[in-house]
Amino acid sequence: MNSNPFENRLAELEKKSAEQQLDAVMVYNQANVRSLTGIDCDNACFVLSAGKRIFYTDFRYVPMVHRLAPELEVRDIGKLLEEDFLKAAARIGYESSMPHSRYLKLAEAFAAAEFVDLAETLLLLRAVKTPEEIEKLRASEAMTDRIWSEATTKFRAGMTEREMANVIRHLMIDLGDGEAFETIVCVGANAAECHHVPDDTKWDGVSPVLVDMGVKLNGYCSDMTRNHIPTEPSARYQSVYNHVLKANTLAIAAAKPGMTCEELDAVARDYLKSVGFEKEFGHSLGHGVGIEIHESPAVARKQQTVLKPGMLVTIEPGVYLEGELGVRIEDLILITETGCEVLSHSAK
Ligand code: ZN
Ligand code: ZN
Repeated sequence: MNSNPFENRLAELEKKSAEQQLDAVMVYNQANVRSLTGIDCDNACFVLSAGKRIFYTDFRYVPMVHRLAPELEVRDIGKLLEEDFLKAAARIGYESSMPHSRYLKLAEAFAAAEFVDLAETLLLLRAVKTPEEIEKLRASEAMTDRIWSEATTKFRAGMTEREMANVIRHLMIDLGDGEAFETIVCVGANAAECHHVPDDTKWDGVSPVLVDMGVKLNGYCSDMTRNHIPTEPSARYQSVYNHVLKANTLAIAAAKPGMTCEELDAVARDYLKSVGFEKEFGHSLGHGVGIEIHESPAVARKQQTVLKPGMLVTIEPGVYLEGELGVRIEDLILITETGCEVLSHSAK
């Protein structure tokens, strides 16, 4: 019995490697290594070659690899560049996203080889989540829902954005593995900055507060944006809010396997354009979420990636009016066989 829950993804990579007639595949990226082995290690190279699966790391991590993935052969990463089977390889799959200095060392050590870029292939393999990963991501987003509802009961007039972000941060440390990314809290007009860094702006207790947050739980990220609106907002704000919510719900209703990311992005973008907010929605509609907060696929213009069941993406349209207001509503959705399931349950 194979204990690796990522066996199907690994087999898929081996199939792609064979199709491209690669003699070896070298995976260095930490998140990619984890997506194939389940092992989170900051000094590793996972090598596939002729049916062999070898985990290269250093002394510090060997017992962990033995414990978590007993089926893998473990070798010393210090001797990786001297391996005869790699020196003999004619074609080696690698990640072009690696540091250039590392690439130069590989190219020198394996001078006979042609290097074939698998960066995109590896990201797309990760984009389709395993059933175990889906359960972890579902739990992570549910925890973000819970933290949001607890945090809003602790918000008080006079608190700064930084203090409000700290309320959320502490809940994330107590209930999960901490933040998946730096929590964004924007009071009033600060929400016109999409990625505003929380500062000493004080909340007056009545202005809308935009919060973009996600806890990390069991190593998997979550992501959600909500707007805390304690009192009736201005008519202008309400109108913008309703349009952003409509863009969000239209995209969720449309999301299904077989459509391209560009087509999904266009559902929200075309609606906002039709109500006069074209330039005011200047970012993409969403992104994949998993081990990292921003993963493939990008739900954006010109992205031809086709949505598949098992992919998780955010749906986060926004309208930003500089100096005035900003609204973004972000949900995490799972592409299913027939459409999608919304994993974020906080009221919007
Ligand atoms: Zn977000
Ligand atoms: Zn996001």
